[in-house]
Amino acid sequence: MKIIYAVFGDPVEHSLSPVMHNAAFAALGMDCEYHKFRVSKDDLETAIMGARAMGFGGLNLTIPLKEIALEIVEPDTLAHDIGAVNTIEFKDNRLIGHNTDGIGALRALQLSGVIIPNSRVLILGAGGAARAVAFQLAQNGAKVTIANRTAQRAHSLAENVNPVGDVRGTGLDDLQELVAQSNIMINTTSVGMHPDIDKTPITADMMRPGLVVFDIVYNPLKTRLLIEAETAGAIIIDGLKMLVLQGAESFRIWTGVEPPVKVMERAARTVLELM
Ligand code: NAP
Repeated sequence: MKIIYAVFGDPVEHSLSPVMHNAAFAALGMDCEYHKFRVSKDDLETAIMGARAMGFGGLNLTIPLKEIALEIVEPDTLAHDIGAVNTIEFKDNRLIGHNTDGIGALRALQLSGVIIPNSRVLILGAGGAARAVAFQLAQNGAKVTIANRTAQRAHSLAENVNPVGDVRGTGLDDLQELVAQSNIMINTTSVGMHPDIDKTPITADMMRPGLVVFDIVYNPLKTRLLIEAETAGAIIIDGLKMLVLQGAESFRIWTGVEPPVKVMERAARTVLELM
């Protein structure tokens, strides 16, 4: 019988997960389908239990459900530390919560040939995505600086992550200096996201050849920040890579099958180019 997978969120209309996962299932000849469902916070527990009762293969969660899911499922250590669940595994009678956002970011860097241990990483932003990225990179041996518009949020995130690695938090006052001291810069703020596509947190004059600039914003595919980075001769990585690789990690958790990453990326890229 066909196995159903799904993403729950609110809003969820624009999720690229169905297109990525359905392309993967088709490429591997698996009798599975992936759908999106609008689920409110209040209905999350009922929806998860319903999915389990109906034999769903697994779930993804997106805004605004990732944090409250912690009280419904058993989070693994990383999801617990990050404070958010984006993947639910139905294992025997258990509901296991994972967070694959950080792994997606880590793999996006590694696939571009970036070495993480002892690298000096500047993360712009201290929101949900920054949290996942900071935990993952600190755990993998990077020296992380979190710089955020609201400095207090950066300090408090750094304090949370510090037990697993080398992390400090700061405001945006000395941004030029912070970029000069880093070899990898990751934008996790929403600056530059559609419709504000002319905005960038950093301009070309602050970057240099060899600097790795990773923008996790994926709409537009090539943000103003990445255009400026290219002008400066920096190495660029776009947010679609992270999106696809976090999805690929969910796929691996649910199915135990190696995900066809190139197929997933091509499917998501095609849809984004049409948007
Ligand atoms: P969030 O929790 O709302 O955090 C937003 C962050 O952006 C905060 O640190 C906020 O600073 C900062 N920010 C917003 N506007 C700013 C401005 N004008 N100037 C400076 N800083 C500003 O959001 P999130 O969930 O972390 O998501 C952030 C972005 O990442 C979104 O564009 C999302 O689509 C993208 N994302 C991509 C992936 C992927 O797989 N590629 C995964 C997750 C998220 P304050 O604290 O000062 O408000």
